[in-house]
Order: sequence, then structure tokens, then C-alpha cells
Amino acid sequence: MVYTGPDFDPPPQRRSRRGPLTVALAALVCGGLLGWGVYAATGSTDDKGTGAEAGGSPSAAPRTPSPAASSPVGSVSPSAEDEESSPAPRTPSASAPAAAGPLKGKVVVIDPGHNPTNVKHTAEINRQVDVGTHRKECDTTGTSTNDGYPEAEFTLDVAHRMRALLEKQGATVKLTQDRDRPFGPCVDERARIGNAAKADAVVSIHADGSGAGNRGFHVILPGPVNAGEADTRAVVEPSRELGERIAGNFVRVTGTAPSNYIGGGTGLVTRKDLGGLNLSTVPKVFIECGNMRDSKDAALLTSGAWRQKAAQGISEGIVSFLRG
Ligand SMILES: [Zn+2]
Repeated sequence: MVYTGPDFDPPPQRRSRRGPLTVALAALVCGGLLGWGVYAATGSTDDKGTGAEAGGSPSAAPRTPSPAASSPVGSVSPSAEDEESSPAPRTPSASAPAAAGPLKGKVVVIDPGHNPTNVKHTAEINRQVDVGTHRKECDTTGTSTNDGYPEAEFTLDVAHRMRALLEKQGATVKLTQDRDRPFGPCVDERARIGNAAKADAVVSIHADGSGAGNRGFHVILPGPVNAGEADTRAVVEPSRELGERIAGNFVRVTGTAPSNYIGGGTGLVTRKDLGGLNLSTVPKVFIECGNMRDSKDAALLTSGAWRQKAAQGISEGIVSFLRG
């Protein structure tokens, strides 16, 4: 993916912090031109609790996406108070009435990865569920920063910020969980919630738990799967389109470079082992927003202001996708 040009140029920032990004963008151009491939793993070497669902973050050569337009037109400007404090949680099913706006009539489902109380329900979350290609645990606890900031809190915080931003655009927004259930939902149910809502777009929010020095975000796209209840053939292409626009806008709004340890520098990875993707019948991607176990990434992930930018970048990608 060529993250250059007015749509992708990161917001003008203080020169000191942007050095590496320019390098990253240059790397992106090279990586984008080089990268293509798919990593298909079933039940890959889990690292219980870290990464998307379970399975850590295998290395994969990503597909080079087309320079999808990430139009500021769809920009969702956060008001000042959004910066630090995230909007209060609400019951997920009671989505706020859609305001007028460019996304009126559109349904977006946000899947905050893991659940803050999963850790108290290990028997329930270890129960095996069918994800079409294989069986895997219902859910995992998620990772945390070395200082103990839980991934499950991070995902809910970003989800709340995204909901506020997208509702301002007129979208109907549903969350798969909002601290309103003792554990889960299981990965298969998370997919079914998006399917049942006939969502126009679904995004699963995560943060990775990889080695220190591994930095940056990556977006996980569904690979073509047709096994058991899983059949992604109809959503592979639209999900990639969604993923490309989210990746492009995430770079532009946060100034954060794509992962330096997975995805060949393009920030995109395709997988066939995630139940949440395999069972989706609507356009859906996962995003690993950064590495909680790297001190520099952790400094970003634990910052309300950066989480607001992350929510804005992901939301603008969704808006750009939905507005085509
Ligand atoms: Zn996760």
C-alpha cells in the first residue's frame, strides 16, 4: 500500500517525533510493493490471552492494498472533551438513535476484544467452540502492559470513543459487549452478532502482546475459508477494502507506523484461524492497535489522547469505506 499523498500524509507534527514515520512511510512504499501472501494457521501456537482471540500474531506477508481513498471528507473531528475521558458506557443493545448525517441508515458493529471479567471465568472461556475450520477456546483474557493496563480495558475505551464519533455521523452503532456480561461473548457469537445486525462494517479492537521492540499496528483481514459453518468467500474482498481504508487512516490520524514485526511493513495481514473472521458473513476486520509489551507502544496505548486518535483513525476508515 502506498501511504503517500494528501489523503495519507500524517497531520503536520513536530519534526522530532515524525522522523521514524517518514522512514516507515518510505519502508511502506517498499514493503507495499513487495508484500503479498496469506498466513493460514489453524490453532497456531497460542499464547493464551495475547493477540487477536488466541494465536498471537504470526508473521505473514500481507497483500498490497490499492491506495484506497481515506478522505478527510469522512473526518470525524473529536471535540475537546473527547480527548482524555472516553464517553460513558451504555448497554450495547440500546444503541442511540441515529442522528442525521452521511452514515444515516448504516449499521456499524464494534467488537471490543476480550472482556474485563474473563479472567474470573477461565472455565467458561476455555470451553471449545466451532469456528468452521477447527475448534478453539470460547475467548481469552487478553494481554496487558507491563504496568498492568489490561487490553480488555483498552478495547472498551477505544470502542466507546468510536461509537461517539460514528453516531455523530449518523450511524447506528452496536457493541458486542460493553462490560455488561460476566465473560465473552465467545468468538463465534461475536461474529454472529455482526451477522444478525446485518452490519455494513464490523471492526474487532485489540492490542497485541509481543516482544519488546516489536512496534506498530496491523489490520487482520479474513482469508478465503469455506469449511463447516465458515464461508468467507463473499466478504474477503469488501473486508480487504475496509481494512485498507482503516490502515491508511490510522497512519494518517495517529502518525503511528505500521507493524515492524508482521505484515511486511504494510500493516495488513490475512488469516484463516480466527473464529471472529471465519464466521462473519459481513465485511469485518481486526485491528491490533500496537504492542502492549513494548514500552514505547505502551506509552501511546495508555494515553487517552492517543486512544482518541486511534478511535478517529479507525472511524474515518470505516466512514471512507461506507461512503465508497
Ligand atoms: Zn486481543
